[in-house]
Amino acid sequence: MQPIAELDGDEMTRVIWQQIKDLLLLPYVELNTEYYDLGLPHRDETGDQVTLDAAEAIRRLRVGVKCATITPNAQRMEEYKLHALWKSPNATIRAALDGTVFRTPILTSRIKPYVRGWTRPITIARHAYGDIYKAVEMKIPGPGTAELVFRGEGGEERQEIFRFRGPGILQGLHNRDDSIESFARACFAYALGRGEDLWFSAKDTISKTYDGTFRAIFQRIYEEEYRTAFEEKGISYFYTLIDDAVARVIRSEGGFVWATKNYDGDVMSDMISTAFGSLAMMTSVLVSPEGNYEFEAAHGTVTRHYYRYLKGEATSTNPVATIFAWSGALGKRGELDNNKELRGFAAKLERAVLDTIEAGVMTGDLAALCSGENVKTVDTEGFLLAVQKRLEA
Ligand code: NAP
Ligand code: MG
Repeated sequence: MQPIAELDGDEMTRVIWQQIKDLLLLPYVELNTEYYDLGLPHRDETGDQVTLDAAEAIRRLRVGVKCATITPNAQRMEEYKLHALWKSPNATIRAALDGTVFRTPILTSRIKPYVRGWTRPITIARHAYGDIYKAVEMKIPGPGTAELVFRGEGGEERQEIFRFRGPGILQGLHNRDDSIESFARACFAYALGRGEDLWFSAKDTISKTYDGTFRAIFQRIYEEEYRTAFEEKGISYFYTLIDDAVARVIRSEGGFVWATKNYDGDVMSDMISTAFGSLAMMTSVLVSPEGNYEFEAAHGTVTRHYYRYLKGEATSTNPVATIFAWSGALGKRGELDNNKELRGFAAKLERAVLDTIEAGVMTGDLAALCSGENVKTVDTEGFLLAVQKRLEA
């Protein structure tokens, strides 16, 4: 196989990372990776250079797989005696690749979604730039006039926002056409790849210029670049208001990609993952406009389990999303290089994982959600060994 970028991480997921490689990958594939240790101690030693190098490797190799990593806060700074409060590796890599994050739940017949009608996965695509995440905010102390001012090359433009008669609050948002365009392209390309409809929602009836621009950009790019390909695949694109979208999503059977603005995606992805059952069953892929891919689990480093593991206590951490990050990366590598064997292995690995769960063998978090009989709760290694048995069969 051609190489992929391998980004190791922290805590419980770092332990699982090695177990997955030892039990499910190295015996079956001639694994070829460029290894980057994004574990917090090594990020600290390298002044976070390793994260930038890893992002560069994903861009060069086109495919990467990432283990969950700690985003340090004050408490972690103390715990790891850090030299600085390093930025979130995910934010650094997202900025370097200018990517869009797609999150898709892994479905099995043993775990019933809270929404009974959902039989196929719903993928959330969240625009990861701008809006309130890059907002400027102000407390207004008392009476006065708030204005929106833009100083451009062609002169100045002003608009009154509000005349305050007393104290209040103020917020300024922005977004960029080029960022919205690459978000739209990433969504169209991803939906095409999955062969699923694309929905996009915003609130352009109220926000005629701001959300109206999002809607217009999506429509233009669809007409100019994707309509023909969508029609050939028999899939469709449609825009609807965010409140209508929420109602339709609940009534739907699933099986589509839902593109959302930054805040909507932040909120809705937590709703979707919980409603499908478990954060431990959610995969995440970052796709750049040039077609570079980084696969990971949507959950974090599972710190509570790690502290128990360090004390030698039994843990039952679910490795499924991390296995799917690997199978996603290997499958994509196989697809890009037309390497049928590698694609075949990736599909077989996913099938083996799902069959293991269908057969009732699962970690504690899933057993707690599972209504059927014949459930055997196992620890991480027990689960991986059961998957291995199916790979061997
Ligand atoms: P978390 O690691 O996702 O874990 C939160 C809780 O969810 C766990 O305590 C566990 O619940 C359950 N859980 C998550 N994944 C599971 C799995 N695979 N198997 C079984 N249960 C699972 O989130 P967190 O505790 O908020 O964050 C921990 C660290 O991860 C933080 O340092 C954060 O910065 C980092 N983080 C990294 C990423 C990333 O790299 N993509 C994303 C999010 C967070 P119970 O304890 O009840 O069993
Ligand atoms: Mg959120």
